[in-house]
Amino acid sequence: MKSAFFNEEHEAFRSAVRQFMEREVAPNAEMWEREERIPRSIWHQMADNDLLGINYPVEFGGTAADFFFSVVFLEELARGTMGGFTAAVGVHEYMALAYIHKFGSRLLKENYLGPGIRGEKIGALAITEPNTGSDVSAIRTRAVREGDHFIINGGKTFITNGVYGDFIVLAARTDPGAGPAGISLFAVDSHSKGVDTRKLKKIGWNSSDTAEISFDGVKAPASHLIGQENMGFYYIMECFQLERLVAAITAVAGADYCLEITLKYIREREAFNRPLAKFQAIRHTLSDLATEVEAARQLTYNTCWMYKEGVPAIKECSMAKLYATELAKKVADACLQYFGGYGYMEDYPIARAFRDARAGTIVGGTSEIMREIIAKVLIDQVEYRAAGSMEAQKPAEPVSPPPSAEPEIEDETPEIELAAEAPAGTGEAPSPGPETDSQPETETETAAQTARAPESPIAAANGIPGSGDAERELEELLHPRVGETQPPRSPAESILYSLPERFRADKAGNYQGIFHFKLSGSEGGDYTVTLASGRCSVEPGLTGKATCVLESSAKTYLDMETGKTNPQIAFMMGKVKISNIPEMMQFLKFFRKLPDT
Ligand SMILES: Cc1cc2nc3c(=O)[nH]c(=O)nc-3n(C[C@H](O)[C@H](O)[C@H](O)COP(=O)(O)OP(=O)(O)OC[C@H]3O[C@@H](n4cnc5c(N)ncnc54)[C@H](O)[C@@H]3O)c2cc1C
Repeated sequence: MKSAFFNEEHEAFRSAVRQFMEREVAPNAEMWEREERIPRSIWHQMADNDLLGINYPVEFGGTAADFFFSVVFLEELARGTMGGFTAAVGVHEYMALAYIHKFGSRLLKENYLGPGIRGEKIGALAITEPNTGSDVSAIRTRAVREGDHFIINGGKTFITNGVYGDFIVLAARTDPGAGPAGISLFAVDSHSKGVDTRKLKKIGWNSSDTAEISFDGVKAPASHLIGQENMGFYYIMECFQLERLVAAITAVAGADYCLEITLKYIREREAFNRPLAKFQAIRHTLSDLATEVEAARQLTYNTCWMYKEGVPAIKECSMAKLYATELAKKVADACLQYFGGYGYMEDYPIARAFRDARAGTIVGGTSEIMREIIAKVLIDQVEYRAAGSMEAQKPAEPVSPPPSAEPEIEDETPEIELAAEAPAGTGEAPSPGPETDSQPETETETAAQTARAPESPIAAANGIPGSGDAERELEELLHPRVGETQPPRSPAESILYSLPERFRADKAGNYQGIFHFKLSGSEGGDYTVTLASGRCSVEPGLTGKATCVLESSAKTYLDMETGKTNPQIAFMMGKVKISNIPEMMQFLKFFRKLPDT
C-alpha cells in the first residue's frame, strides 16, 4: 500500500526481510517454541543480513537507517509467527542495545553495541523485580561502589533473554535514600560470578527465554556504569517511549497476521454448504476489526514519525501502545473463534497468536499505567515537554532553562505517582532475591515503606529525621505565626528560607554553588541560595552566576518539598525545569529532610 511514511527503499527492505522471515524463521517456529529457545545461529544470520543494528551508527556495524526501516523490520517479525521470537529480538535490539547506544561510554559501545549488532552478544534489560514492576522507582537491587567496582546484590524477574543472553542492562539502586534519583544502570556480563538464572514457564512467548535472575555479590567494573550514576530512572523513562512504540508496532503486525490467516481460513472452510466468508456476522465482525487495526496502524505510524522527528510523544506512545496491544488481544480472540475447534488446537498458528497477544498489555508498562499517563494529559492537563527527549537532560551537557513555552499548571488534583506508588499487595510474598542492605527485613515493613508518599527532594537527600515533632515542624514552616520576627511568607518561600536551618555542613564540605529558584504564580518569586564555606544563605532575587536554575510554579515546588508530588515525575512532565541535574542532585544531599505531609 502507498504510504506517507514509507518510500521504495523501505518497501524493498520489507520484501527482503519478509523472505528472510519466511525462509529462516517461520519453518522453525514449532521447534523453537517447543525447545523454548532461539538458536545462536539465527542471531548470526540476522546480523549477516544487517538486521540487528538498523538505526545504530555505521562505526559500530549498524546501518544508521531511518526509524521507518525499523518499523518495517518489526512489522515483518510477525512473519516468524512467534511472539517470543519478536520479543527476544525486540528486547535485544531496541531495549538493551538502545541504552548502550544512547547513554553508554565508548568502552561499553565497543564491548556490547558492536558485538550486539554482530549477533555475538545478546542483551537483556532487567528492571522488573519480584516485588515491583510498574513502580520502577521502588526497585531494591543494590549496587555499592567499592573502589573501581560496584558490588551488586538483589533479584530481577520476568527478564527476556535472561537465561541465554550474554549481557544484562541492569537497573540497580546506588543511593538507597534517594527514591527514583538513586537508580543507576549497569552493563553486567551474564556469566559473571554470582549471577544465577532460573527459566520461568510461561503461557505464551515460548521461544523467548524469560528468567528470574539473582545477583549475589556480583562484581561489575565501575566503567560498566551506563551514563551517570543515579541517572538510571531518567534513562529508563526516556527509553520507555521506544519500548512502547516497539510494542505498538509489533501488536499491529500481530493483529494483521491473525486477520490474514483468518481471512484465508474462512474462504476455505465451509459450513451449511457455504464458505464461512459468506456469513454476514463473520464478514461484519472482521470488517470492524480490520478497520480498527487500520486505525491503530495510523496512530502508531504517526507516533513513529513523531519519534523519528524528535517530537516529544509520551502521550502518543502510551496511546499507541494501549490501543494496539488491547486491540491485538481482541483480534486474536475473535479470529480464533472463526477457526472453531481447530483454533483451540496447537497445530494451528492462531492458537499461538492468541496466547502470544496476551502479553502485550502487560509488558513494557501495563494498559493501566498507559491510561494513567494519558489521563495526566487529558484530565490534569499536564503538558509533557521535551523531557521525553533525554537531550534536554543529558547531565554532561547542562542546558540553559528552556523558555517557558507551556502554561503553568496549577494542579489541584492529587498527583498520581506512576513511578512512586506502592506495588499492589499480592498477598503471597513473591520470592525475593538475596537480601540486600537496602531491603527491609519484613514484608510489612516493605509495604509500609513503599506505600509511603514519595520523598521530597530534600527527603531524598540521605536526610536525617527532623528534630522534634515532625508535623508541628512542618506546620510551623508552612504557616509561620504572625507577630514573630519574620514577615509572613508564602509556604514555598518559608520552605526556601528553612534551607539554612536544615543545611548539613558536614555533608557539603567545601562545596560551592549558586542556585537560582524561579517560582512562578501568585505566591512565587525569585530566590538565590548560596552554598559556600560550609554555610548556606538564602536571599530574594537572582544574584551571581547560577550553578543551576530551578523553575517551577510555587505550588509545584511546595508539593515536591512536602512529598505530595514526586520530583522526578514533575520533572519528566515538564512541571519543573532544572538546568543542571547533577548539580541539583548534589545540592539536595546537603539538606536535612522535611517531614512528608
Ligand atoms: C513475558 C514477559 C516478559 C517480560 N520481559 C521483561 C524484561 O525483559 N525486562 C523487565 O524488566 N521486565 C520484563 N517484564 C515485566 C513487565 O514489564 C512487568 O510485568 C510489568 O511492567 C508489570 O509489572 P508487575 O508484573 O510487577 O505488575 P504490578 O506492577 O504488580 O501490577 C499488577 C497490576 O496492578 C496494576 N497497577 C499497578 N499500578 C497501577 C496504577 N498506578 N494504577 C492502576 N493499576 C495499576 C497493573 O496494571 C497490573 O494490572 C516481562 C513480563 C512478561 C510477562
